[in-house]
Amino acid sequence: MAEALIEIQNLKKYFPITGGVFKRVVGNVRAVDDVSFQINKGESFGLVGESGCGKSTIGRTILRLLDKTDGKVVFKGEDIHSLDKTKLRSIRPKMQIVFQDPFSSLNPRIKVGEAIGEALIDHGLCSRSEVKNRVIETLKICGLAAYHYDRFPHEFSGGQRQRIGIARALIMNPDFIVADEPVSALDVSIQAQIINLLSDLQQEKQLTYLFISHDLSVVEHLCDRIGVMYLGSMVEMASKEEMFRNPLHPYTKALLSAVPIPDPTLRRERIVLKGDIPSPANPPSGCKFHTRCPLATDICKKETPEYREVEKQHFVACHLV
Ligand code: SF4
Repeated sequence: MAEALIEIQNLKKYFPITGGVFKRVVGNVRAVDDVSFQINKGESFGLVGESGCGKSTIGRTILRLLDKTDGKVVFKGEDIHSLDKTKLRSIRPKMQIVFQDPFSSLNPRIKVGEAIGEALIDHGLCSRSEVKNRVIETLKICGLAAYHYDRFPHEFSGGQRQRIGIARALIMNPDFIVADEPVSALDVSIQAQIINLLSDLQQEKQLTYLFISHDLSVVEHLCDRIGVMYLGSMVEMASKEEMFRNPLHPYTKALLSAVPIPDPTLRRERIVLKGDIPSPANPPSGCKFHTRCPLATDICKKETPEYREVEKQHFVACHLV
C-alpha cells in the first residue's frame, strides 16, 4: 500500500471581495472549493486545468504561502496550517517550490550562487565556509557549471534560469517540491530538457512532486497520477495511463483532444470548448462546467454531480458517468 507524504483534505481557499465605503465583504472568489487528494511518497502528481482553475492557489496553500479558508493539509503527519512559526520554519526546507518565472524571484544585483545559498544560511543548514561548495555541487547536479556561481541572473537563458530555480529548491534537500508551471514559458526543446532533469532528480533523490500545468502533454511525461481541475473543483483524478486511455469527464476529454499524438497517421478529433472559464466569484449552478459542456442536460444546471470513485482509483464528477 502506497504511503501518503501529503494529504489535502477538503481544502478551501476563498479570497474575499470587498465593496462600499466600509469595505465590507460582499462575496468571495472561490479559488479552491473543497478539494481532497493525497500524494504518495516518491510520486509525481500532475494537476491540470485552464488558467484560473485554482491549481496554483492549491500549490501555494499546501505550502502555506497562502492561508487556507478551510480544510487540512497534512505533511508527514503534521497539520501544516496549525503549526506555530518555529515549527513551520523547521519544516519549510522539506517543502519547496519551483516557479514558472524564476527570474522574478531573483535579485538582479545578487550573484546567482549567493542567491541559491542564502536560504541554506538563513535556515542554519550550512556554515558560511561550506556554502559555496554546496551551491557549486548543486549547480552541477542541475546541469550548470561552477563558474555560473559568480554570474548575475540576466546573463542566463530561460532554460538556465529554470535550472537555477530548481537548484534553489534542491539545495534545501527537500522531500516535496511544488513545480508550478515550470516549463510553460520555455521553448519545446528546452521544456524536454527541464522535464528530463526533474525526472532524473526524482529518481536520484526520491523526491515527491506536485506538478502544476495547463498542458496535459507536459504532465504525461513526468506524472504517475493526474488530477483535472475546473473552477476550483477537482472533476477527475486517475493514474496517468487510465486518464489517457479512458478519460470520462467531458472537460478532460476536451483537454486531451488538444494533446498531439506522436504518430502522424493518427488524429484526434479536437473538441473546442465554447467561451471562457466563468468567474470563480460567481460560479454556475449545478455542475460548474454546464455552461461550456457539449453534453449538458437539464439536471446539470440544477444538481451538483457527486465526485465519486467510478473505477478503482478513478474518480469523476459528472452526471453522465
Ligand atoms: Fe457536462 Fe453535465 Fe457532466 Fe457537468 S454533469 S460535465 S454539464 S454532462
